[in-house]
Amino acid sequence: MSEDVNPFESLQEQIDDAAQYVDVSRDVLERLKHPERVLETTLSVEMDDGSIELFKAYRSQFNGDRGPYKGGIRYHPGVNRDEVKALSGWMVYKCAMVNIPYGGGKGGIVIDPSEYSASELERVTRSFATELRPIVGEDRDIPAPDVNTGQREMNWIKDTYETLERTTEPGVITGKAPDSGGSLGRVEATGRSTMLTAREAFEWLGKDMEDATVAVQGYGNAGWNAAKLLEDLGANIVAASDSSGAVYRESGFDARALKDFKRETGSVSGYDEAEEEMSNDDLLTLDVDLLIPAALENAIDADLAEDVEADVVCEAANGPLTPDADDVLQEKEVYVFPDILTNAGGVTVSYFEWVQNRQRFYWTEERVNEELERVIVDAFDDLVETFDSTDAPTLRVAAYAVAIGRVVDAYEQGGNWP
Ligand code: NAD
Repeated sequence: MSEDVNPFESLQEQIDDAAQYVDVSRDVLERLKHPERVLETTLSVEMDDGSIELFKAYRSQFNGDRGPYKGGIRYHPGVNRDEVKALSGWMVYKCAMVNIPYGGGKGGIVIDPSEYSASELERVTRSFATELRPIVGEDRDIPAPDVNTGQREMNWIKDTYETLERTTEPGVITGKAPDSGGSLGRVEATGRSTMLTAREAFEWLGKDMEDATVAVQGYGNAGWNAAKLLEDLGANIVAASDSSGAVYRESGFDARALKDFKRETGSVSGYDEAEEEMSNDDLLTLDVDLLIPAALENAIDADLAEDVEADVVCEAANGPLTPDADDVLQEKEVYVFPDILTNAGGVTVSYFEWVQNRQRFYWTEERVNEELERVIVDAFDDLVETFDSTDAPTLRVAAYAVAIGRVVDAYEQGGNWP
């Protein structure tokens, strides 16, 4: 993992790379490279022993030209201002790539949640929700889960917001539990879009998914759901990892059994079906048909990319390749399907959840999955059409060209406000 790459600079570089394939002026482009605003706040929260602890927290609202800001909230000790800004920018282009009517936002708290009790985490979350209250709302900014947050935190944020606002407004946040207004199919949506992207990619490349070998870095929500759904298509999950390390089995794991083991023990390491324990870097350089980085950003830098042996990479995580690693993989003719398509299932079903909240009418899981498949397959087709019809050097550049073109159109149609 490369620690010294600034993700915000990576984002800006990606925008510059793609801008040459879009009809956009320099000044409008500059605007698209910076967040509209960033909330930075310090939460003071009472711990179970009566002491007060301080937590830094951020919410970046990057661009709202296509609709309300949309994006997750991450709890991690490595959260910082530039990371949150970058993640919020990726959300703008992700929403535009899959053509849903949102801008982009992202938030985070600098915290290792494993060190706190549930009641402490609830107070931390409600404190952040109180800070967010003036700037969020179903037509303003709609947070969602990200690393180390899920339905529980989303339910707390919704409850805090609705209590303070004296209303019911479930669409203020997505990723809620179904009984609190969540959508069926949301939990596995990111893994499902990863599977759909890989499925379409293999078909486009003329590769067979049956018995294809797959390595998954980060066996969390995005990674494990992708693994399970790819296994259902006949693929073999030969390696999986989490922050404790990686496990390998040449003939493939039972993806569900491996998840059960992780659920019981807290990690994939030590799984008795594994033939080999290895490092995360070893997993990322396995000779597999499909590599799915599904942990954190900058997992693969240029040095590591030199050793990547996979034929296809589907980025379930946000920004898992540094820009230099991207260049190396391009030279090695590895097809990299970018995060803004591959993991867009989460935000797409978030969008469906918000639509259902506003209509107060709830869909079946089958309908959610069908609509998601339509959105991802359409976006995949838009991406490869642009890739084939321009001389864009990579699929990422082509994806950003599609997305930036859509944001520029919305901006220009709105005109400028002095
Ligand atoms: P998660 O917390 O459920 O899972 C993350 C997994 O990565 C965990 O198993 C963790 O142990 C592992 N991990 C952490 N550091 C690691 C390291 N250094 N090496 C290997 N594994 C490591 O989180 P998630 O929701 O699955 O998110 C994973 C990635 O997917 C993030 O980049 C996130 O932004 C992105 N993403 C998630 C969603 C979603 O809906 N959950 C949507 C879009 C993008």
